[in-house]
Amino acid sequence: MHVNEDDLVLHYYGELAPGDETRVAAHVRDCRECHAAFRRLQQVLTSIDESALAPPDLPDGFERVVWARLQPELQRTLRNLSDTTSSHPVSDAAQCTKFTVH
Ligand SMILES: [Zn+2]
Repeated sequence: MHVNEDDLVLHYYGELAPGDETRVAAHVRDCRECHAAFRRLQQVLTSIDESALAPPDLPDGFERVVWARLQPELQRTLRNLSDTTSSHPVSDAAQCTKFTVH
């Protein structure tokens, strides 16, 4: 079973539970599909982080602005991910819950 996008994101930020981290890290290392998916996600998230190198006091709506700017890119990435992981029942749900602009 492949790693879903949520776990890839958490893996990128190092926020997985230790047990999950071990499983995801090993899978991403060994599975070509997930490795490629993680690399793509990494590029997107890196660009988010770079554009988010902002002062500690974020202005109101900063998050919304970042999302609005990055969401098309994220969605494109997730669509690509879905192409390779279309057997994931969680993919659609993950997109709806996690990547929706508030
Ligand atoms: Zn995989």
